[in-house]
Amino acid sequence: MRRPVIAGNWKMYKTAAETRDFFRAFQPLVAGSNHCDIIVAPPFTALAAAVESARGSAIGIAGQNLHWASEGAFTGEISARMLVEAGCRGVVIGHSERRQYFGETDEGVNRKTKAALAAGLTPIVCVGETLAEREGQLTHTVLQHQFEGAFAALTPAEFSRILLAYEPVWAIGTGRTATPEMAAEAHRYLRDRAAAQFASEQASALRILYGGSVKPDNIKGLMAQDGIDGALVGGASLDPKSFAAIVNF
Ligand code: PEP
Repeated sequence: MRRPVIAGNWKMYKTAAETRDFFRAFQPLVAGSNHCDIIVAPPFTALAAAVESARGSAIGIAGQNLHWASEGAFTGEISARMLVEAGCRGVVIGHSERRQYFGETDEGVNRKTKAALAAGLTPIVCVGETLAEREGQLTHTVLQHQFEGAFAALTPAEFSRILLAYEPVWAIGTGRTATPEMAAEAHRYLRDRAAAQFASEQASALRILYGGSVKPDNIKGLMAQDGIDGALVGGASLDPKSFAAIVNF
């Protein structure tokens, strides 16, 4: 039985003060929500406020990115060790916005995933096809490349600590969600890749989150699908009421 995960990716939204306000409103709404893991990924400058606000609750705080080196002359970057010290339990890696705007490659995703694992963080690794790729019948090819690239040379034990997020790029921030059936089909394909690269034990335990315009009114249909184990939520995670409604699907 895979425990559901609902994760919020705040992108470049919310100051530390806004983060405290969010948690003040959000926590009472999910105080009894023990049916799933809840993760919030604020911007770096709001991590401390989020960790402090979530202290004593089961809500896990995650970074949105990291550098693969443990330290060094990498201006503007943050290491896994720094995220751990800030109180993070996880980190989002390979989000499509980072691939699209900041040149993130599958090789970089692999290095970051290994660095996160080595530091004890849970990597939330994102994969997903663009609209042109889907329309060109390339969805499986793209997912296969991204999957194999991200998880190259991982041991089965390391892979078992991964959260995988399937996020079709055409559904992110567009209000256009994949149908539950489309999402479930992609999840099945990714689970098959996990079985092929690792083993059926890792594949059946792998938690795969769907991301792409998840809202309170579509989460139930998505979560009703067999292989959808949770959601990575962007826009709708910024509002305490809508994120709580998604958590309490
Ligand atoms: C995301 O940022 O990962 C995301 C899925 O965004 P949205 O929910 O706004 O589409």
